[in-house]
Amino acid sequence: MSTEIAPLTGEATLAHLLRDEVFVAGDWRTGAGDVIESVDPANGRVFARIHGATVDDVDEAVAAGERAAVESGWRAMAPHERAAVLRRIGEAIERRTDEVSALQTLDTGKTRGETSALARSAAGTFYYTASALETLEDQVTPRRGPYVTVATWEPVGVVASITPWNSPIASDAQKIAPALAAGNAVVAKPPVWAPWVTLLLARIAEEAGLPAGLLSVLPGPGRTVGEALVAHPDVGKLTFTGGTSTGRHLAHVAADKLMPTTLELGGKSPTIVFEDADLTRAVAGILFGIFSSSGQSCIAGSRIFIQRSIFEDVVARLVEATRRLRVGPGTDPRTQVAPLITSSHRDQVAAMVDAAVADGARVLVGGEVPQDPALADGAYYLPTLLGGVDNSAPICREEVFGPVAVVLPFTDEEDLIAQANDSEYGLASGVWTSDYRRIHRIARALVAGTVYVNTYKQFSISTPFAGVRDSGLGVEKGREGIRSYMRQKSIYVDLGEEPLPWAAEQARAVCQQPVNTTQA
Ligand code: NAD
Repeated sequence: MSTEIAPLTGEATLAHLLRDEVFVAGDWRTGAGDVIESVDPANGRVFARIHGATVDDVDEAVAAGERAAVESGWRAMAPHERAAVLRRIGEAIERRTDEVSALQTLDTGKTRGETSALARSAAGTFYYTASALETLEDQVTPRRGPYVTVATWEPVGVVASITPWNSPIASDAQKIAPALAAGNAVVAKPPVWAPWVTLLLARIAEEAGLPAGLLSVLPGPGRTVGEALVAHPDVGKLTFTGGTSTGRHLAHVAADKLMPTTLELGGKSPTIVFEDADLTRAVAGILFGIFSSSGQSCIAGSRIFIQRSIFEDVVARLVEATRRLRVGPGTDPRTQVAPLITSSHRDQVAAMVDAAVADGARVLVGGEVPQDPALADGAYYLPTLLGGVDNSAPICREEVFGPVAVVLPFTDEEDLIAQANDSEYGLASGVWTSDYRRIHRIARALVAGTVYVNTYKQFSISTPFAGVRDSGLGVEKGREGIRSYMRQKSIYVDLGEEPLPWAAEQARAVCQQPVNTTQA
């Protein structure tokens, strides 16, 4: 790997976005932490360096967030006023879609098609959140006495947002928009492998008029900066997306403070083909579900269950279609499978495939780095299908987070449900069938936060997203996603004419005649 900073090429000039600055308490400054090197996954070249944030920055950012929420009036603002700022942030993201997309492709290797879609979806998240915020209502609850009871919500204070590297702008927006909407400040800790898009989002938010100090962005190592942020006594909520072991550890740290936590974690999602499925749609959907983003997606459909009667036929079609996928750099508009995030991650994926093969799995297609010399310096791995193992094999239990899936036969619905649900995870699943009764039976029987029927990997900000088992805790998106950044408060307002009866006699005795103050 070269240690020179590579000159930027391509349609967008991004140098102005790659300044060696972190964003603490409304101030852009050179970080005092270790240097983070950013490497272009497509060619292994270092394209930028940034000094990370430190634990001291955490203290400053949290204190500034708390102060800014009060002094700027953000916390007290009427929802429609906060919504106006969120809408402006959405518009600014949309205007700068090309820039966001080019930066994210440079930092993560993803295709431009995908990063453009993610940027547009992030803008949509801010629009949706603004609109939903304007319609969130306090509740007058049913009368149980001579008083009015109002259930209301208030901000939790400062929110810690910790995110992974696979879809920065979308995962940032999914957390930052509702957290701000709820009247909080946010301290974001982006991943070391891809910090730039979160920093760009902060610049966009600042330009759109978000009050200074409400959002800080602290790139840096999880085990120091991230952990200090979660443990900080004045942080009122953690929203985390990342690996299950990290999430479980942070849940313990949060539990010590009795702090509410939302965790979006890993998955090993089944995608299921019944013999009555439309095969063209199923093959297209299965390939998209596992190989887009090079499989670096929490909901990647990495266990492909195929009914035994069509197993050989569908496997042959999947293998041939996979062979035809175009592998290349994310900047090439024809590319479907771009490089992985780093060559070390690619090597881990390759090692998991090799271990599966040593355990008896057969490589049906892929299973190696591409031979094309033009791709030799990038973090590429060919889209891979494995067979010859059953659902108990480690490759069917552990998340690969790369372009690797296993094909598995099933006999009937009962057999399918037993196998599909036999997993520590429960994030997503896909079902391909034309039987509408079966759709309802299977969708309810699958243990998963999301079930896709005759489609896969679609995202709607207005639809709740959650994982069960080791895939997560709590819900993001939708109206409840905003509520999750609030705490409830109940207000009782008396309407009665009389004092409360228990001490009414004494109160009348002392309040309806002059008080003898000399005895007090
Ligand atoms: P990771 O858990 O290693 O890191 C995620 C974030 O946590 C990073 O910012 C990291 O710096 C930080 N972190 C690490 N250790 C920490 C600590 N001790 N204290 C505080 N912060 C810490 O995960 P990753 O490799 O970046 O991302 C891949 C994982 O994310 C996969 O398991 C994937 O399934 C999951 N993911 C889940 C979803 C979802 O919505 N369920 C979405 C995307 C990714």
